[in-house]
Amino acid sequence: MKCRKCGKKAVINMRQHKLALCEEDFLAWFTKQTLHTIQRDSLFEADAKILVAVSGGKDSLALWDVLTGLDYSCDGLYIGLGIDDGQAYSDRSCAYAQKFAGERNLHLITVDVERAQGASIPEAARFTPRGAGKPCSLCGLTRRHIMNRVALEGGYDVLVTGHNMDDEAATLMGNTMNWLVGYLESQAPMLPEKRGFIRKAKPFHRFYERETAAYAFLREIEYIQQECPYSVDAKSIYYKNILNQIETDRPGAKQGFYLSFLQAKDQITFNHHKERATLDQTCVTCGQPTRGGTQCAFCSTWERVQTRKEAIG
Ligand code: SF4
Ligand code: ZN
Repeated sequence: MKCRKCGKKAVINMRQHKLALCEEDFLAWFTKQTLHTIQRDSLFEADAKILVAVSGGKDSLALWDVLTGLDYSCDGLYIGLGIDDGQAYSDRSCAYAQKFAGERNLHLITVDVERAQGASIPEAARFTPRGAGKPCSLCGLTRRHIMNRVALEGGYDVLVTGHNMDDEAATLMGNTMNWLVGYLESQAPMLPEKRGFIRKAKPFHRFYERETAAYAFLREIEYIQQECPYSVDAKSIYYKNILNQIETDRPGAKQGFYLSFLQAKDQITFNHHKERATLDQTCVTCGQPTRGGTQCAFCSTWERVQTRKEAIG
């Protein structure tokens, strides 16, 4: 197959775009499309101070690479979860993030959960109902809290994540299958800043995962290829597989499902928020917004972890 732009040998064929490109033209296209998405979806301004949530995986490192190449001002944030599956998953992820930043002279902020909170995510999960069975709920709560705190304290304008369209379409499918109206309402490429919350944006939300993977490969970005051991059997992987099966038969179906949702969302009125409690209180421990009570979910959860850990000795 030949590159549609220059006629050289194509390295990727994006069937949903009916577009095959060679290495050089794909890298240029990918960078241009990222900029186009940032501008079209009003994700952030050209002079924004950006914090990139970095996991050590391909998407987040590719995102940091593209944004840096586009001359955006960005630092990285890596959160060490303390996950050791016998292959030192967290340590190796951290090493990839540090290597990437070191080789490009970029600033990487590292927060180690165990050092900051007194227990790793898997250990803490054993002490909390949120972690019963799997640590993912506690992990999500903790990462969201730390990302928000670091971004606000550092004076950043926006926190960006490497979510791609496969992630977003799988999330959409899960939310639709269960009619999680609140999550459907809040699923968006950009969540504006509001009291106590940093703006969040997903500049890769229009790319398929194979495109971000191709970019990382062609740019020779070294990243952790292993998935988090707790993601095995995750619902999101199940939905991704189903969507990819549909995509094989009907190229563009995944893109149509997700982008049509974003368009339809503008015409849908969500009424459930009338009953939903708003985040109008302030946590007495950390100062972040909370729905009620004196502490936010992060502080109350981790306080319980520390109490139970001390009790056990
Ligand atoms: Fe955290 Fe791993 Fe679960 Fe993802 S799969 S939420 S990284 S524990
Ligand atoms: Zn708090």
